Amino acid sequence: MIDLIDKTKDELQKEMVLKGMPRFRANQIFKWVNSGIEEIDEMMNLPKNLRERLKENYSINRIKLVKRYEDGKDSTRKFLFSLNDGNIIETVLMKYTYGYSLCISSQAGCRMGCSFCASTIDGLDRDLTAGEMVDQISSVEKLEGIRISNIVIMGSGEPLDNFENTIRFIKIVNDKDGLNKGQRHISISTCGLVPEIYKLGELGLQVNLSVSLHAPNDELRRQLMPIAKKYTLKDLMQACEFYYEKTSRKITFEYAMIKNVNDSDDMAKQLALLLKPLRNSMVNLIPVNEIEERNYKKSNDDSIVRFSKILTEAGVSNTVRRKLGTEIDAACGQLRRGFVK
Ligand code: SAH
Repeated sequence: MIDLIDKTKDELQKEMVLKGMPRFRANQIFKWVNSGIEEIDEMMNLPKNLRERLKENYSINRIKLVKRYEDGKDSTRKFLFSLNDGNIIETVLMKYTYGYSLCISSQAGCRMGCSFCASTIDGLDRDLTAGEMVDQISSVEKLEGIRISNIVIMGSGEPLDNFENTIRFIKIVNDKDGLNKGQRHISISTCGLVPEIYKLGELGLQVNLSVSLHAPNDELRRQLMPIAKKYTLKDLMQACEFYYEKTSRKITFEYAMIKNVNDSDDMAKQLALLLKPLRNSMVNLIPVNEIEERNYKKSNDDSIVRFSKILTEAGVSNTVRRKLGTEIDAACGQLRRGFVK
């Protein structure tokens, strides 16, 4: 059965025309599916015979809530959803003054192997479909009775390692007849897959790009992130420059502050030198979230302040990220893959 949630409006139009249905039927179907219905029979303005024909090849395949957690301190919510093959993924909802932001997963697990991140510990099981990504948003909006204003693809997985589905996801949620989320309200975070950053730049979408940097030089970055053995910082910076040229979107660099690893004054100076030539970028300093399996400790508050000050004085804009959801293991790098037995 083909999952209707996985389809862009264009794809549906083509498929319905092939079935001999008029194009406007595809628009109706697309609207219904993205309004959150569970069954094809709920498509009230579709004649019964069309619904029956649709049911021959298509279904609506929603992800299922397994558990919901709420952080007592900051009211961040984490949802465990099961996919139809038994995989469990995590989605995190954060409340900011401007509205709700949802952190969605793009893969069940991850194969990037970053040494500080829990998502990669059991490796990659599989890519999520575009529909499974879309449904994280629809499900949370429905469960919580809210509208999500920002989407960050920063849950488990590497979105650019699941490139085609991530792009389809953007097309589906961006559609005015669908969830209608503006591209400027969607952020893709990558550990730095250089060829895919170029591919994304070529598409000229208006989405935000976040790059997980975590080290200001290749030697340290290679110790922390295996992807750095494949692409140097020079390659990565060139790709970022290209992305900016094509899209004019500001690029955010994520930098997890790890005690005695990447938080010295010298590292801050190196980072400033690295980023200074980029025209429009900013650094997000994140005190590393400690995970059980690893021995990394977060930097002291005063080293973070010093680090931030060195960047600012060198003209590199930066913020220290507020930590949300630590009580429920919902913070950056704490999401992991599960399995229902
Ligand atoms: N694979 C993508 C998407 C994951 S986003 C990427 O690497 O960007 C998750 C963000 O949290 C990334 O910036 C990641 O590097 C960061 N992160 C991972 N583990 C972390 C940890 N333990 N503490 C703080 N940030 C972490």
